[in-house]
Amino acid sequence: MSWIAQILTLYPDMFPGPLGASLSGKALNDGIWAIETLDIRSFARDKHRSVDDTPAGGGPGMVLRADIVGDAIDAARERAEPDWPLVYLSPRGKRFDQALARHWAGLGGVTLLCGRFEGLDQRVIEARAVEEVSLGDFILSGGEPAALAMLDAVIRLLPGVMGKEESAEDESFERGLLEYPHYTRPQLWEGREIPAVLNSGHHGKIAKWRLEKAEEMTRLRRPDLWSTYERRHKA
Ligand code: SAH
Repeated sequence: MSWIAQILTLYPDMFPGPLGASLSGKALNDGIWAIETLDIRSFARDKHRSVDDTPAGGGPGMVLRADIVGDAIDAARERAEPDWPLVYLSPRGKRFDQALARHWAGLGGVTLLCGRFEGLDQRVIEARAVEEVSLGDFILSGGEPAALAMLDAVIRLLPGVMGKEESAEDESFERGLLEYPHYTRPQLWEGREIPAVLNSGHHGKIAKWRLEKAEEMTRLRRPDLWSTYERRHKA
C-alpha cells in the first residue's frame, strides 16, 4: 500500500513538481507513495468560483473562507485514515523537523492544507482541529513550497526509497548532531589533502574522527542542539 500525500491547494499543478524527479520521483513511479490533490476552488459555491473574501475588521489582503475550506477538508478526510495528521502549513505553527518527518513517515499518510493570501479563517482551524506546522521563520507566498519540502523529507524515509548507499542513520539531526564533513577524490585539490585518517582503512578510528567532527560542528554552529546533546550523552 502506498503512503498517501493528500494536498488541499488552489494550485494542484504545483504537484508533484520537483517531487516527480530523482529519488522521490522514482518512489512515486514505484508506487511507494502517491499524491492526491484536491483543488480548493472546486468547492466554491458561486459562479465566480471565489474562495476568499476581505478580512473582517479591515486590513490588507484576502482570507480563505471557512465554509469552502471546511468542505474541502471534509472531502479529503473522508478518504483519509483517522490517524493521518491534518496539517495547515502556517508560519505560526510548530516548526517542522526530522522527528516530525519520521513520525509522518511511520503513518499511512498525511493531509496537508496549503494556505494562500493572508491565510485561513481561524474558525475552520479550530472547528476541524487542524494542526499548524511551519517550515521556518519566514513568510512564503503560499503553503505549497512548504508542503513540497516537508514531503521530500518524509518520502526519503519511507521503506524502500533510500538504498543502503543513501542510508539516513548518520545524517544531520538523526543523532541530535550535525553531520561530519565529507571528502572524495581527488586526494589532493588546490593544495588541500583529504584528512589522513579517512585513508587509514581503520574503521574504528574513522568513526571516532567523524563523531568528533560532528560534535565540533554542532558545538560551534548550533548551540541549541549541542546543549540537548550534551545533556543526553556527556552527563
Ligand atoms: N499572514 C500570514 C502569512 C500568510 S502567507 C502571517 O503573517 O502569518 C500565505 C500562506 O503561505 C499561509 O497561509 C501559509 O499556508 C503559507 N506559508 C507562509 N509561510 C509559511 C511557512 N513559514 N511555513 C509554512 N507555510 C507558510
